[in-house]
Amino acid sequence: MSIAVYPGSFDPVTLGHFDIIKRAAQIFDHLVIGVLNNSDKKTPLFSLDERVIMLKEAVKDIPNVSVESFDGLLVDFVKSRHSNVIIRGLRALADFDIELQMAQSNRMVAPDVDTLFLSTSLDYAFLSSSIVKEYAKYGVDVKDFVPGNVLPRLKEKLSKMSITTGGN
Ligand code: ADP
Repeated sequence: MSIAVYPGSFDPVTLGHFDIIKRAAQIFDHLVIGVLNNSDKKTPLFSLDERVIMLKEAVKDIPNVSVESFDGLLVDFVKSRHSNVIIRGLRALADFDIELQMAQSNRMVAPDVDTLFLSTSLDYAFLSSSIVKEYAKYGVDVKDFVPGNVLPRLKEKLSKMSITTGGN
């Protein structure tokens, strides 16, 4: 059975991520989405549990996809799931440097684990979780950017933080 792992912060999952998930799930027998806990990035908007729940809701109709959180070394997580393939999405040249560096360093510590890049669909080439959060914060309707289940959670989160403007 071929198993791949798609790691990321998913803060929150976007339709760009979802597109990569659907395509990877068609290539592999099973896809494990790994939601990163120990991110170096600034504090996420959504807690780890919330990010996992949103992903589980979004992929509930894709039978060969599961969602888990992880911390520690990515390659250890990949091996623990009996996989040797990491899936990453590539948007633009800006992603390339850092993605190549990560793929190469992962191969240094785990030569049997490879990274497979899927190029983003043009519809989502501009899309990132940060852009979604920024738009939503200022009341822009982000329904074309995130899975339907994420919308109410995003509104609720931002209204709790009292930083939403304009949106209804
Ligand atoms: P990370 O913080 O690890 O970069 P992200 O949640 O931002 O995690 O992204 C996870 C993966 O999804 C990365 O490989 C990223 O390049 C990819 N990705 C993010 N947005 C898109 C998009 N719009 N289209 C395709 N791939 C994307």
